[in-house]
Amino acid sequence: MASLRDRVILLSRTPFGESSLVVQGISARHGRLSWMAKGAYRASSRFYCVLDLCDTLELEWQTAQGSDLHTLRAGSLLVRRAGLCADPRRFRAAMVLTELADLVSRAGQPEPGLFASLERGLDALLDLQGSPDWAQARFELELLSELGLLPSLEQCAACGRAAPPVRTEPSSPAKSRAAFSASGGGRLCPACARLLRAQGRRVGTMPLEVLEDARLVLGKGSAAAQLAGERLLKVRDLLERFLGYHLDTRPRSLSGFLAAPQRNAPAS
Ligand SMILES: [Zn+2]
Repeated sequence: MASLRDRVILLSRTPFGESSLVVQGISARHGRLSWMAKGAYRASSRFYCVLDLCDTLELEWQTAQGSDLHTLRAGSLLVRRAGLCADPRRFRAAMVLTELADLVSRAGQPEPGLFASLERGLDALLDLQGSPDWAQARFELELLSELGLLPSLEQCAACGRAAPPVRTEPSSPAKSRAAFSASGGGRLCPACARLLRAQGRRVGTMPLEVLEDARLVLGKGSAAAQLAGERLLKVRDLLERFLGYHLDTRPRSLSGFLAAPQRNAPAS
């Protein structure tokens, strides 16, 4: 049995017996792991009051031979994010981040990029100057990028050429719509859109302004900080339906948001 130590963000906690916990988390260097925290509720425990969601912890554990449940030896707090619990909107967004990290991570597979994105996302949610919708959309874009599934927002996802709108609104060009397909990888040029439709693939449309706003959230500039309210909800709608399609599931923490009518659907 080896003894290991790593930085960890917990994804779930389940009480076990009278005073113990089974916790699951994503670690910086060892991927997603599960631990038995014996006596976690006892004041004398070496991880008493440490095992909370949303914080960055340092855990030390003994690996278990032939079992995926490791034995926690000690734990300390590196970054406390207690502020997230004080604000229901920020806490809900934090639960989306942790559920998505849980869904895409694989047990025991090191995923340092995913760990870093989750840490950045939780820190961004703590920034009271910033919108929780921005932090959530930004994390979702980073996650898609980690998975190699970033939607094409500017060029055609299929041929790489320019993807002009398929429905123009001369009075309000930003409301013009480009062809868009989750299965096709994002924005499409009119010719590739026709080709995919002919193959029986589902191709819809997306307003140019929403594609542009998603690019702002992805970019490093400060322009994204000015996005607010409805515009960020539309970017989230695009990203979360795109993620749902590629993950082949509707995350529990997003079921309310995604049960609402599509925010980017064309006006009838
Ligand atoms: Zn094309």
